[in-house]
Amino acid sequence: MSTTSHTPRHGRPADDSLVLDTRSLGRTPGAVSQVTRTERLPEAIGVELIRLPAGSEVSLDLLLTCVEEGVLVTGHVSGAASVECARCLGEFTAPVEVELTEMYAYPGAAAADAAESDDVRLLDGDLLDLEPALVDAFGLDFPLAPTCTDYGREECVDPATPRPDGVSGEEGDRIDPRWAGLAEKFGMGDAAGEDRG
Ligand SMILES: [Zn+2]
Repeated sequence: MSTTSHTPRHGRPADDSLVLDTRSLGRTPGAVSQVTRTERLPEAIGVELIRLPAGSEVSLDLLLTCVEEGVLVTGHVSGAASVECARCLGEFTAPVEVELTEMYAYPGAAAADAAESDDVRLLDGDLLDLEPALVDAFGLDFPLAPTCTDYGREECVDPATPRPDGVSGEEGDRIDPRWAGLAEKFGMGDAAGEDRG
């Protein structure tokens, strides 16, 4: 994962759907705030084959806990991903969910100094931008080559597609019983023991 997501985005509007206002915590260590709501993604998250489309809804079920040097975000975020099967190219929608445990440090706090090298993000004033954390979390969660069967399907959504782990491949390793005798004769079977002659 790149470190670019650690850069606070100054000037982002406070009403950005994935920017959480932590002012209610009053920077009081121990204060908690529950965030349970649905938001629309300003931008798509993911890659071509599997992504949460821009404008799609994500459900936030998060707990913000004020700690000494910032705000700890824990909980779950779920959404509906558009998936294109790497095998049959069929498209379908699948529910996806990530678990978050993210530390957001106040700028200037000691923890913020570690932000360059650590898994610490920065608050922008009292604003907490959830988007980079979601990009990273879903990015880690999404497979590089998603397939129908990765998402609970028995087989590909496009039934015309031949099965990938081709049945023919498995059978190719076996010798047709009709030719087994011939294979033995020509040392194609268990010939290893006869090497020293
Ligand atoms: Zn498929």
